[in-house]
Amino acid sequence: MAARTGEQFLDGLRRTKRHLHLEGERVNDVTQHPSLAGAAKTLAGVFDRQHTYAEDCLMPDPETGEAINISHMIPHSVDDLKRRVRGLSRLSESTVGLMGRTPDYMNVKFASFAATWRDWLGADGHNETGAHNLLAFQKRLAREDISLTHTIIQPTIDKSTDPQIVGNKVTLHKVGDTANGIVVRGARILATLAPFADEIAVYPALPIPPGAEAYALAFSIPVDTPGLIFMCRDSAAAPNAHPFDRPLSSRYDEQDAFVIFDDVEIPRECLFLDGDIDIYNTVGRTGLQDNLTTQTTIRALNKLECAYGLATRLAEAIGDHSPGTQEMLGELLGYVEVTRSAVLLSAEHGRDIGGGVWFPDGRSLQPLRALLATWFPRVNEIIMLIGSHNLLATPSRRDFDDPELRPLLDEFLHGANDLAAVDRAALFRLAWDFVGSGLGARNVLYERFYLTSAARNRINHHLRNTDRSRAYALVESALVK
Ligand SMILES: Cc1cc2nc3c(=O)[nH]c(=O)nc-3n(C[C@H](O)[C@H](O)[C@H](O)COP(=O)(O)OP(=O)(O)OC[C@H]3O[C@@H](n4cnc5c(N)ncnc54)[C@H](O)[C@@H]3O)c2cc1C
Repeated sequence: MAARTGEQFLDGLRRTKRHLHLEGERVNDVTQHPSLAGAAKTLAGVFDRQHTYAEDCLMPDPETGEAINISHMIPHSVDDLKRRVRGLSRLSESTVGLMGRTPDYMNVKFASFAATWRDWLGADGHNETGAHNLLAFQKRLAREDISLTHTIIQPTIDKSTDPQIVGNKVTLHKVGDTANGIVVRGARILATLAPFADEIAVYPALPIPPGAEAYALAFSIPVDTPGLIFMCRDSAAAPNAHPFDRPLSSRYDEQDAFVIFDDVEIPRECLFLDGDIDIYNTVGRTGLQDNLTTQTTIRALNKLECAYGLATRLAEAIGDHSPGTQEMLGELLGYVEVTRSAVLLSAEHGRDIGGGVWFPDGRSLQPLRALLATWFPRVNEIIMLIGSHNLLATPSRRDFDDPELRPLLDEFLHGANDLAAVDRAALFRLAWDFVGSGLGARNVLYERFYLTSAARNRINHHLRNTDRSRAYALVESALVK
């Protein structure tokens, strides 16, 4: 099978009997559940979109020639990197960057792993079988157009002792071997997209200490594997609301789920890593971050540009030409253009990492991991400052449909420059769903933490910047001794 259609994606979700809990209820069919159906439909639209914009979003499988999503690309030139930027942008446009985990997010990660397996997973012949399992999985991911979620972070129990891995019974670890593979037990956070995924991947994140072999795991398994339990957070989807009233919540709640592995058997062919701490701890050297941050920064660019457009239209809707507002709009535009530049530069200055594989230049992308985490809360603040009370003076669809009320709403709730009341309400409702609804609050938490906190990113950025020769030379040139 090649790149799937939306209907094929939904059909796959219907046939997968995952163990998923949402607000005290066990959900059987995520495509029909009132709190999940809207996002399932939106994601189906993302699958259809790859066919609508096939020139940007699809590419031939290098071995079979079948059409696969562009996010599976292992780039071989700057032109490839630029092509991938165009395709990823097309995909994230469809949710104005509000869904962080459309499947291209994980696809880019696994393409990156597959490109570097010789230097990482299979290095020195230590883990040949695991490396070949990963390569086979990456091809299947592309060819079956699988929707993949992931969980890589251990749950927080006690920050005064965490991260204490060895002996920790909460975090995911191996508890035994079977004839067919291994058994794992424990929990992990926080699988975004879990209700809409076909498989779940586990792979290395933060380094682990010597003696933690049981925790050095990487694999991917179907979400309906026995013993796998997903605990969703409360829905932000506003299932009973008219889309006019909640234009974003009704469509873009991608969900997040705590994952429990209750003695789950991982078949040997699904295992990429089992117990090798050295390999586990060197994931940071695979180039994963530069590839992943390409996808995330493109997605963020679409969201920022939408936020800029939204804030500008809010100001226009109420005739706000004040210097304070113009300055805030300029601030938003600044975020947009810095982010755009980072994406373009990363592709333009792509580098050959060996073996004919090209990765984006991480220098322009890495700072964005921390900057975006601090910009997005400010973006929301600007929309609130411009929107003010108008964000809450927004009649609902049913109010507008009431023939007695309608003339009054048209008379008293229109905007500047003859903006009709219904158009003004639609605009401000969009803004409130962006910044003030349950989805808005979840989304700002997402931006702050999904790539780990800004603090950790700043620290890591500095520590990984080991070539400081030019910076030091400049200091040397100015030093008076
Ligand atoms: C909406 C959402 C979706 C997510 N989806 C997924 C997913 O799909 N899969 C997955 O695996 N994970 C997911 N995550 C989890 C995410 O990976 C973690 O939240 C992330 O790794 C940050 O870890 P943490 O929450 O422990 O925060 P930390 O990085 O520990 O930060 C917590 C606080 O401590 C501060 N801090 C941390 N380190 C330092 C330091 N060295 N110096 C000073 N201050 C510091 C930070 O500023 C922050 O305020 C998701 C998280 C959210 C919020």
